[in-house]
Amino acid sequence: MEQNLKSQEKRRIFFYSDYLKEKYGEKVYKLPINIAGGCPNRDGRIASGGCIYCAGAGAGYDCLPDELSIKEQLEKNMDYIGKKYKAKKFIAYFQNYTGTYLPVADFKKNIKEAALDNIVEISVSTRPDCLAEPYLDAMLELSRATGIKMSIELGLQTANYHTLKKINRGHGLAEFIRAVILCKKYGFSVCAHAILNLPWDDREDVKETAKILSALEVDGVKLHSLNILKDTELARMYESGKVEEPKREEYVERALIFLRNTLSTTSVHRLIGRAPEEISVVENFNNSWRSVYDEIVSEMENRDLYQGMDIKEEICL
Ligand code: SF4
Repeated sequence: MEQNLKSQEKRRIFFYSDYLKEKYGEKVYKLPINIAGGCPNRDGRIASGGCIYCAGAGAGYDCLPDELSIKEQLEKNMDYIGKKYKAKKFIAYFQNYTGTYLPVADFKKNIKEAALDNIVEISVSTRPDCLAEPYLDAMLELSRATGIKMSIELGLQTANYHTLKKINRGHGLAEFIRAVILCKKYGFSVCAHAILNLPWDDREDVKETAKILSALEVDGVKLHSLNILKDTELARMYESGKVEEPKREEYVERALIFLRNTLSTTSVHRLIGRAPEEISVVENFNNSWRSVYDEIVSEMENRDLYQGMDIKEEICL
């Protein structure tokens, strides 16, 4: 808690870039890797429709084509980012689909291929119900052999398990809690994804989601607004009037609530996500993501808010 208060004095939002600078002593860039993966929530193993907002790319919009090998993708991106930002350290990020939904032997091969010089961390994005010990064992083994740190990104989206059903996540809150505890046992850092304006959630749900993530002491959070993408169940619901268009003002308010209830030691990877315009029906309220981001940051300043300020009151008083 003392550490929390200290951080609160320093910054209103603990951004991921600052976290990385503190952890690695310099700027570190995350390089997305595209592998031809799958998802049990799309292929029928859990469900066949996927999450109602998922457009099928498994969220890997910024990736290079998966015809390139992992090594080729990383080298290409390292070359580009390295020259552009004079960067020397990188994180290899298995971003799209469900990063651990493949045989363990293939997973091992993939992470090994990503363990290049200048890679200081390997990050794997996956579903909470797709995280078994053999995958974490493989990561730990590689980490011990190379010194490369390991991290896991988990989709939760909301702590409201009724909403999780409505968005067809195919898992509940308990699976997420189990996955975080498991990652912590291995000493890997965990980042959780949350969508703050799901139509079935209210502000209390957002607060509870942040509080649960704080209680679990996740290391990072990635916040998203609900983007309505073409050819998704959500788009069909929107077009038939079953869900309303997301409102920017409401998202900003919810982001502030979330931040107030997020530990000041949890780094914020994103305040709002992005989706390509060409596949979107409604993307970030049809505003630029940057303007929404700037509004959240300036509202924190204007209202004199700090990350974690509500946790301090509830725990200490
Ligand atoms: S878990 Fe990810 S890849 Fe799978 S359906 Fe949901 S959003 Fe899409």
